[in-house]
Amino acid sequence: ARRAAAGAPITPGALADGTPVPLLANLGNPAGAAEAVALGAEGVGLFRTEFLFLSSDEAPTVESQTASYTALLEAFPGRKVVVRALDAGADKPLKFLTDEGEENPALGRRGLRALRHHEEILRDQLTALANAQAATEADLWVMAPMVATVEEAEYFTRIAREHGIRTAGVMVEVPSVALLADAVFEVTDFGSVGTNDLVQYTMAADRMLGSVSSYQDPWHPAVLRLIAEIGRAGAKHGKPVGICGQAAADPLLAVVLVGLGASTLSMSPPALVDVRAELLKHTREDARRIAEAALAARDGASAREAARAAITA
Ligand code: PEP
Ligand code: MG
Repeated sequence: ARRAAAGAPITPGALADGTPVPLLANLGNPAGAAEAVALGAEGVGLFRTEFLFLSSDEAPTVESQTASYTALLEAFPGRKVVVRALDAGADKPLKFLTDEGEENPALGRRGLRALRHHEEILRDQLTALANAQAATEADLWVMAPMVATVEEAEYFTRIAREHGIRTAGVMVEVPSVALLADAVFEVTDFGSVGTNDLVQYTMAADRMLGSVSSYQDPWHPAVLRLIAEIGRAGAKHGKPVGICGQAAADPLLAVVLVGLGASTLSMSPPALVDVRAELLKHTREDARRIAEAALAARDGASAREAARAAITA
C-alpha cells in the first residue's frame, strides 16, 4: 500500500469487485490531519473552515488563513483535499457575519448567502486557498455551503476560478439543488452531499431540536431519492458526487450511498475502519440492488430493514 507522509499505510476503500471508493476524512482543524492519516483517510472530503472565524470578532487575515490551509494541504501530499468555504449561520452563528435577528436562521442568510452579502470575506478566503494550493502538492477542491439555486452554483464556480481555484463545486444540502442536479452539473465541477442539512430541509425538522430528532433520519427514502437524483446526474455528466454528512459513517448506509451513485465517502476518521470493512463485502451490483431495496421503502426504518434483507437475499 502507498504510504502517506506520516508513514501510516493507506488501504484504499474499495468494493468486493475492486471498484474504488475513496474514503476521506471530515476535519474541522488542521490539527486533526495526523490522526486522519493514521486511521487511513485517503484525503479530506470536508474541511470545515468555521474554526478560523469563531474565535474572533472579525474575519482572519489572508496571511493567517493561508498558513492554516497550507498546514492542512501539506499533510496530504498528492491527495484530494476538499475545503468548504465558510458556512456561517444557523447552527454555526458568527457575530460579524450573521444576522442575529432572524427568526428562522436555518432558513435565513446563511452559508453562501452570507458570503455573498460580505463578498470581501469570500474573496479573501479564496485568495488564501489559492495561495496554499500554489505552495503545496495537494489536489485542492473548494466547495460552497448551502447552495439552493443553479445561479448560485454558477456564481461560486466562477468566483472560485477567478481566484485561481482549479476545481470548484457545491454542497448538495438543499433539496432544490438535488432536484435540479442536471443543470447544476452543467455549471460546476462536483457535488458533495451534506446529509445533515439535506435531511433537515427535506423533512422540515430543525437538526438542533431534540423534540423532532426522530425526523432526522438519513435512511428516509425521500432523502435517498434526492441522493439518487444527484448520483444519476453526476454519472451522466461525468461529475464526481461525494457524501460528507454523518450518513456516510453508517457502514450499511455507506453501501446504499455507493449504490445510489456516490463516488467518494467522507466521515469523521474513527468511522473509516468499519465503513472500509463493510464496502469490501459487496460488489457494485450488490450495492445497486441494496440501494434499490431501500429506495422502495416507505420510511426510514423499513428502508434500513429492506437494505439488510437485500444483503442476505
Ligand atoms: C451537512 O450538512 O451534512 C454537512 C456535512 O455540513 P455541516 O454538518 O457542517 O452543516
Ligand atoms: Mg451543512
